[in-house]
Amino acid sequence: MRVAVFLGSSVGSRPEYAAAAAGLGKCLAEAGTGLVYGGASVGLMGVLADAALAAGGEVIGVIPEHVFSAELAHQGLTRLEVVASMHERKARMAELADAFAALPGGLGTLDELFEILTWRQIGLHAKPIVLVDVNGFWDRLAELVDALADEGFVAESSRGCLLRARDPGELLSLLRVR
Ligand code: AMP
Repeated sequence: MRVAVFLGSSVGSRPEYAAAAAGLGKCLAEAGTGLVYGGASVGLMGVLADAALAAGGEVIGVIPEHVFSAELAHQGLTRLEVVASMHERKARMAELADAFAALPGGLGTLDELFEILTWRQIGLHAKPIVLVDVNGFWDRLAELVDALADEGFVAESSRGCLLRARDPGELLSLLRVR
């Protein structure tokens, strides 16, 4: 089992975010679950990969050529795949993963999250998608999606595809029962 994790290429403004990324990396590795991510060594992405590697986990990074230097591609991964574009990165990450999780991040994280969610909405895959919370970080996003559903723009079935976990342990339990 491999989980693709979307998360910030920055560390954010609170130390809790890096702590959560490190906790998730360690937890995945200890559970024997492979990690697929964007291949960067910066921000929460680097923290996550380092923690998974330190705990002996498999880590596959998928990075587009043109962000290779901007995000400082991680050189110590189990495997680093260099692809031609952002679109290829997302497609390849989706192919490699059995499930998706999002930790705090910015616009890139949201782009990746919503693309995978909309792919599920139109039946391109049936893999679980889980928001992993850090101090209620995802509350506002969940409220927005609820509002879109209440206004008749998002089907109940699609709203239900966005799962939530309070911590990495809960993420793993959710994935085990699915
Ligand atoms: P951010 O959440 O903005 O820090 O970005 C997190 C990751 O998403 C980084 O590796 C970005 O390169 C990546 N990213 C940004 N925009 C896109 C996009 N349009 N498609 C795929 N990945 C993206």
